[in-house]
Amino acid sequence: MIGKQGAGKGTQCSKLAAALGIAHISTGDMLRSAVKAGTEFGIMANEYMERGDLVPDEVILGIVEERLVQADCRDVGFVLDGFPRTWAQAIALDDLLAPDGVKLVINLDVPTEVVLDRLSSRRVCTGCGRTYSIYKPPSSDWTCDDCGHEVIQRADDTPEAISRRLALYDEVTSPLISWYEAKGKLVTIPGDRDFNDVAAEIAVAVDSAK
Ligand code: ADP
Ligand code: ZN
Repeated sequence: MIGKQGAGKGTQCSKLAAALGIAHISTGDMLRSAVKAGTEFGIMANEYMERGDLVPDEVILGIVEERLVQADCRDVGFVLDGFPRTWAQAIALDDLLAPDGVKLVINLDVPTEVVLDRLSSRRVCTGCGRTYSIYKPPSSDWTCDDCGHEVIQRADDTPEAISRRLALYDEVTSPLISWYEAKGKLVTIPGDRDFNDVAAEIAVAVDSAK
């Protein structure tokens, strides 16, 4: 699934992966768990993430390749969330999945004004990752309704990091959309609607690609 930051990829991918009984592979989540674990790798990645920069391709490719060769991904399949985001990543993924490449690319399309508002109002649980917003906070004092951990603003949801991330999306990631379209793999789904309507449309697109 490809789409701007704040388009709702994380939520839709996790619903889709659960419905299909396949792995949800989010490079952002993988990186955030490394940061949380305080590994050397996490500390290095965090320097890029806090600024809103992309983590270098070699690093991302290493973690994705390692994950995709595991039995569940190889035998059953997977949903990729937030990968690929650069030419180098897209080409490496094609090679990894040769000869067929990816089966389907969903472009979750949301206007920039909408994602800007979503990202600046977004708050996330430090325990389970559940997303809230300043408009829909947890029921008691910024502690998560599901797990009781603290709900905070992500370090890269500051105005500076948000504009950097969206600029990188336009420059580096969005060109992949027309590339996948030319390969006949792309379905564009408007994401600025009710969550369940978007999910239903994604399910239909996935069904017809099977
Ligand atoms: P968002 O889409 O809101 O930026 P993610 O959780 O997908 O959030 O990613 C958070 C950060 O992790 C990114 O800003 C980037 O620094 C890093 N990251 C995630 N996926 C990739 C990727 N495929 N290539 C490079 N960096 C990545
Ligand atoms: Zn939680």
